Amino acid sequence: MTISKENFKKTFLEKLATMYGKSIEEASDIDKYMALASLVRDYINKKWVQTNKQYMESGEKEVYYFSLEFLLGKLLGSNLLNMQLTELCKEVLAELNIDINEIENLESDAGLGNGGLGRLAACFLDSLASLHLPGHGCGIRYKYGLFEQKIVDGYQVELPDNWLRDGNVWEIRKPDKAVEVKFGGNVKVDNVDGRLTFTHENYESVLAVPYDIPIAGYNNNTVNTLRLWSAEAAKKDFDFSSFSRGDYMKAVEYKYSVEAISQVLYPDDSYYENRVLRLKQQYFFVSAGLQSIVRRYKKKYKSFSHFSDKIAIHINDTHPTLAIPELMRILMDEEGMGWDDAWKITTNAISYTNHTIMSEALEKWPIETLRSLLPRIYMIIHEINERFCRELWNKYPGDWDRISRMAVIADGYVKMAHLAVVGSYSVNGVAKIHTRILKQEVMKDFHDFYPYKFNNKTNGITHRRWLLKANPLLSSLITDTIGPSWINHPWDLINLIKYADNSSFQDELAKVKLQNKSSLAKLIKDKYNLDIDIHSIFDVQVKRIHAYKRQLLNVFHIMDLYNRVRENPYLDITPRTFIFGGKAAPGYYLAKLTIKLINTLASVINNDKTIQDKIKVVFLENYSVSLAEMVFPASDVSEQISTASKEASGTGNMKFMMNGAVTIGTLDGANIEIKDEVGNDNIFIFGLTADEVLNFYHYGGYNAWDIYNSDSRVKTILNQLINGFLPNANDEFKNIFNYLLYNNDEFFVLKDFSAYVDTQNRLDHRFRNKSKWLTMGVHNIAHSGKFSSDGTINEYAVGIWKIKPVFISEE
Ligand SMILES: *Cc1c(COP(=O)(O)O)cnc(C)c1O
Repeated sequence: MTISKENFKKTFLEKLATMYGKSIEEASDIDKYMALASLVRDYINKKWVQTNKQYMESGEKEVYYFSLEFLLGKLLGSNLLNMQLTELCKEVLAELNIDINEIENLESDAGLGNGGLGRLAACFLDSLASLHLPGHGCGIRYKYGLFEQKIVDGYQVELPDNWLRDGNVWEIRKPDKAVEVKFGGNVKVDNVDGRLTFTHENYESVLAVPYDIPIAGYNNNTVNTLRLWSAEAAKKDFDFSSFSRGDYMKAVEYKYSVEAISQVLYPDDSYYENRVLRLKQQYFFVSAGLQSIVRRYKKKYKSFSHFSDKIAIHINDTHPTLAIPELMRILMDEEGMGWDDAWKITTNAISYTNHTIMSEALEKWPIETLRSLLPRIYMIIHEINERFCRELWNKYPGDWDRISRMAVIADGYVKMAHLAVVGSYSVNGVAKIHTRILKQEVMKDFHDFYPYKFNNKTNGITHRRWLLKANPLLSSLITDTIGPSWINHPWDLINLIKYADNSSFQDELAKVKLQNKSSLAKLIKDKYNLDIDIHSIFDVQVKRIHAYKRQLLNVFHIMDLYNRVRENPYLDITPRTFIFGGKAAPGYYLAKLTIKLINTLASVINNDKTIQDKIKVVFLENYSVSLAEMVFPASDVSEQISTASKEASGTGNMKFMMNGAVTIGTLDGANIEIKDEVGNDNIFIFGLTADEVLNFYHYGGYNAWDIYNSDSRVKTILNQLINGFLPNANDEFKNIFNYLLYNNDEFFVLKDFSAYVDTQNRLDHRFRNKSKWLTMGVHNIAHSGKFSSDGTINEYAVGIWKIKPVFISEE
């Protein structure tokens, strides 16, 4: 498909006329955005029709990626990029005196996710389509995405994210493809000719209406589908019969209770919310998604015996685990299959990714909650558990301990991770160390029993959004230096290694970095009226605020540095700008207090004239995909300082690396694999190892007070939290003091403090050698191809899903 400039311009102007009845002079910016986006959408939709046609005809296996979260961000820029329209569009808009960046910024982020897990799902969709793979997303169309964060008086305030206010050009509502999802009620069991039948009665019916979003591959003809489900009152239940009975209020209440299901994303990250509505969300989209998959399958095939040769269903964390009993229900109750056949199909179709080893994030539902909300599903889970425990008994006769540890239902709960392992054919962790800990510790019993199910798939990020789109200056420099092959083969970035010590390349790289820092500095000046020195080290920690990610460790280093500079104004340090960003779950007190601490410290330091601007601290409000795209290209230092063993993989670490930032981090998650790629000279590693951390948890031997008493820096800093050094009217920071000392510092902030400060000092000295620092940056960019999600998705496709590319022809 080649589109000429003239044609593009003409179509754009026609769009303005047909959609709004306006000329270019009359059109508002939002009109222009809508016209442009719908024009791009039209090009995409043609390819979408062709893709669906070929998928229907080809008979190739397709994968469905089920995820409660898809953190897509804005779509206009990435769609222009993948459709190869970026340059053309820029030229045309420039001729019309329109700034494309301003137009792009009018789009709301699709913020249907909390953090890494949701962004991973979005990167995977981009890679599937770009690799010609038949793979689709299935999730919820939340009316409100992750809350918008405002900082008021240093505190986080949450505002609703009304991202659909101006409509969503990219989605298509498909009411004819709606399905019914049933909640509550009871199950009537009958014996029909010697066969048990199960009839769900007295249930509450919810209509699931799909909204499809096209996912265009990069420079190919593939357009896959992200299907997001919206909950609506079923017509037959919400109609005039209620009115005629005079039950108007009841009818309205019912409508709201149904719509509540897809109303809002739960704002918790690495933590699970034990609420019925959350469980309802999970079953709602899983049931709707599977019903539509089965319906489509039946259009193509007569028998279910090939189901798992044609369809793979992937569950992103345990949130969609009810896919296992739901597929069993559909196959048995609706398709008339027996247990054994249904079980075989289900366990050959479903695969599962584990995202965390932290117990507070492992989902479990009280039996009664599950049974009353989903009576038939509960019966099936109960049967799965009975059969599984019998199998365990055969292998481990008499070993009650082990059997109760492994049971799917135990201690009054249904354990979702156990159900996910038992009912799937593949269980993967998301970085080598995470998979190792799963096998050896958290899921050891399961690994003993099903060793063949476990495998690793290290996470990845799409280099198209995170380098090509987010950092056009660096992308051009790379292409000018090694040619454009890296765009389709990201591992070709390794060809940059030749230029690691090349001074003219380094000069160019330094210019690019400085320009990107200057853009971020401008944003900071405009938004916060704060001047930052673009020649200072931009030291950045952007991610969800969570105790295990240890923003506190970063803060304590800043406090120590500040104390040292105040003590000795001539102290020779490289000027630094510490940049933070991230949201705290609204109910997570310590995380919210950490935000207040950062902002309080920032106001003290940024207003202290005696330190000659050597240190600045900035908290960027409302961290989101769009803000992230500004931040990574402008970063010098990537803070990846989680307590070893806790960060399953991390993906922010990969985005920084790809943009030439150098990591300071622990041996945790994918940091280890980053270190293995770039080598010890091109990363700053410090702190306890995962084995050391796990040993302390198992055997004790750490006392936070010992460090407080023996390290005067630590004592000073902790005392500054409570002695009025930091102005805070409510004495709140004593809660951080108490948390660390009276809770024995469960994430080893104090234990790792000294090693962290030493390593930061080393980093400071290294930064002064400009050429050496740039060499490190080049090594990081050159090795980042390994972390493109194209590689990750290829491994999933070959190793788990067994899917092959389908090459889509031009319409
Ligand atoms: C990549 C990304 C994350 C994940 O960051 P981690 O550092 O891996 O926790 C979270 N939020 C956004 C907006 C991201 O782009």
